[in-house]
Amino acid sequence: MDVNSIQTVAVIGAGTMGNGIAQVMAGAGCQVLLYDTGQAVLDRALATISGNLEREVRKARSTEADREAALGRIRAVTCLEAVAPADFLVEAAPEDFRIKAELFGKLDTLCRPEIILASNTSSLSITRLAAVTRRPDKFIGMHFMNPAPVMQLVELIRGLATSDQACQLTRALAERAGKTAVEVNDFPGFVANRVLMPMINEAVYCVMEGVGTVEAVDAVMKMGMNHPMGPLALADLIGLDTCLSILNVLHEGLGDPKYRPCPLLKKLVDAGRLGRKTGHGFYKYS
Ligand code: NAD
Repeated sequence: MDVNSIQTVAVIGAGTMGNGIAQVMAGAGCQVLLYDTGQAVLDRALATISGNLEREVRKARSTEADREAALGRIRAVTCLEAVAPADFLVEAAPEDFRIKAELFGKLDTLCRPEIILASNTSSLSITRLAAVTRRPDKFIGMHFMNPAPVMQLVELIRGLATSDQACQLTRALAERAGKTAVEVNDFPGFVANRVLMPMINEAVYCVMEGVGTVEAVDAVMKMGMNHPMGPLALADLIGLDTCLSILNVLHEGLGDPKYRPCPLLKKLVDAGRLGRKTGHGFYKYS
């Protein structure tokens, strides 16, 4: 299969990442089938995409006609069977192995056997997810960064059985969408979150132990290390539940206590303070 023959891309999950990936794929000229479990989530996702594209028009980076065309290419669906015509699939459901495994079991029977199934997982084993399908050679990690429409990188994760062709086609699709793909191997957290999450976790420990306030920790890392945003503001952007899930995967998968999730992070997740997506995490959002 050639990258230009990918006309329809299915995106599974329309949350923080799914809506961004749908926008990226529509911007690359693909028809997008955006699936989520409820209409309300899909309506919110479409409103987010519309708002993002409107901002691009206001900044003169795009035209109103482009915005309308991109929106017109996205079809929101609540029935999983509707993604069957897809030529490529990216899954962005919650960072939970059971949810993803159940989804891929179904998707494997719904989608044509020759198409690639990609997961946007931040940390879960691509090899293990691939093993629930009958096409482990056509299974790959396609890890977009947040926000997907803005960030340059796509981390490509090769599972044990992922074929060279699957890697090449996924790379070509990322490039067609204006991204740069970097290939890595399948280990807990891959590279991005193996390096990022311990920093975020340590920042949370600094707050819990009273080393600094939330604002102080973020200010030190922004001004002192030239990071564009502080680690706690970044954790809110990622979603504190997603951060906790990734840290659990690192902790269990690598068995090293240095990845132990900070109790304060767990407490915030227990309280439902998940960051931007719930309006409250380390900071409050209106
Ligand atoms: P999210 O919680 O914002 O969105 C998840 C979406 O999946 C929700 O809309 C939810 O309704 C939907 N969902 C729940 N059960 C489902 C099911 N059975 N089938 C389909 N959809 C279902 O999460 P997110 O931050 O978008 O994360 C999605 C994936 O992307 C995770 O694997 C995460 O690790 C990864 N990721 C997240 C980030 C980030 O910064 N948030 C960055 C890169 C990768």
